[in-house]
Formats: sequence, C-alpha cells, structure tokens
Amino acid sequence: MVRDGLAWHEDRSLRERAGIVVAFSERTGGLSGPPYASLNLAAHVGDEPDAVDENRRRFLDALDLADRRDRLTCAQQVHGAAVRIVQPRDAGRGAHAAGGVSPVPETDALVTTQAGIPLMLLYADCVPVVVVAERARAVAVAHAGWRGLAAGVVRNAVAALRSATSPDEDLVAYVGPHIGPCCYEVGPEVVSQFANKFVTIRRASAVLDLGAAAAEELESSGVPRERQCHLGICTAHNTERFFSYRAEGRTGRHAALACIVA
Ligand SMILES: [Zn+2]
Repeated sequence: MVRDGLAWHEDRSLRERAGIVVAFSERTGGLSGPPYASLNLAAHVGDEPDAVDENRRRFLDALDLADRRDRLTCAQQVHGAAVRIVQPRDAGRGAHAAGGVSPVPETDALVTTQAGIPLMLLYADCVPVVVVAERARAVAVAHAGWRGLAAGVVRNAVAALRSATSPDEDLVAYVGPHIGPCCYEVGPEVVSQFANKFVTIRRASAVLDLGAAAAEELESSGVPRERQCHLGICTAHNTERFFSYRAEGRTGRHAALACIVA
C-alpha cells in the first residue's frame, strides 16, 4: 500500500475482520537524508532524532494510528531470545527518538493482549516475524536474525503468545522482508549450527536461508505452513525499498508493527 509516497505491506482483511493491524514498512516517504533515506524508524543508528520522530509519525498516520503515537512501544534489540509481555505500564517505552522513556531493555520479542499499544521492532536484513492470535486478540512481534533464530526467539515468542492466551489458540504468522539466501553468505560454522537445528538447512552450503529456518521454527512451534504468510522479498536485493545492513553498512531501519486497534 502507498500513501503520500510512504509504502508499506499490511493485511487489510485482518484489520477489517478482527481489528488487528499487522504492517511492514518500506523506506520511502520519510524525511531522513543519506544514509538513512528516507523513512528510517530507528533511534539508535545515528540519524537525527527529530527526523526519526517525524518518520514514525508519518508511518503511524498512514496506518490510521496517529492517536496512538505516544503509546508506541519499542525494544532495545540485542539479537537475543528474550520476550516481554507488554503491559499498560510499558506503553510508550522508546516511543520518541528525541527524549522520553527508554525502550524495553534487551528484548527481541514483544507480546501484548492490550488494545491500543502499537508494538514496533526494527530491521535491516533480520527476519521480522509477527504472530497473531485472532480469536483471543493478542499479537507478538519478533526480531530474528541468525543469532536470534539459533537462540530460539521465534519459539519463545510463540510460547509467550500462547501463555498470554490459551494453549490451543489457532495462530497465524506473517514473515516480513529480510535478507534472502541469494545475498546471505555466512561462514561454515553458522551453517553447521543451523543444519544441526533445522532439517531444511543444508550443511554443504555457503549461504543461509533465514526464511526457511523461521518457517521451520514456526511450524515446530505449532504454526503450520498454511497459516504462515511470507512476503518473500530480499532486503539486500531491494535497497531502493528496504534498508540492508549487509548491502549498505551504515543505514536506517524499517519496521514490523502490530497493534490491536478495536
Ligand atoms: Zn537477495
């Protein structure tokens, strides 16, 4: 979807049916200059805080969440596997780049059952995973690079979502833009670690398919393939639309956002 030059991916039918927003931003339509041009949503990469805040305002406005700007909740992402269940007292942590309350510390997955709290994590190649419990009205957002996937961040996020709702809840997962195996060369020790953990990862390979690992992790956590929606866009291949740490080095971050709106 595109509004005023700002592009994003969203499941509109989920919003209409269940009042739940799941969205992935692209990098156009923002205020930031190079190397953060232009819709950089991250406060920690050296961009101008005022530009980041304006970019966040534009993104939330595009999602019709402008009135939730001060409740936007972010995390200090560390490529770990810790999950935070976001309560009303956490709402607004890291909402503003220019001052305000600090993000939720050392956390790579946020889960909530609370309406009106947009959860947002930031990415430049790592895998954005959003999991939704539609009937029980709960959402999880995870940041899954190779370290997070190996540490179990996706599994932990799904488990936290189930513990916040019910163990037999039908979940649906959305996997956003991330670096593809076409562009992700890694060392043999990383491939070996993944091949030990995931049956879909081939041992004799110089590249790593993070999307395949995320899909397998979701499936083994109880989210079958037919309930997974993979955007299937490589960030490093599409630096005019997404930020890529591997392709660009110093750059901005796009976002995955989930919010129960009604
Ligand atoms: Zn690629």
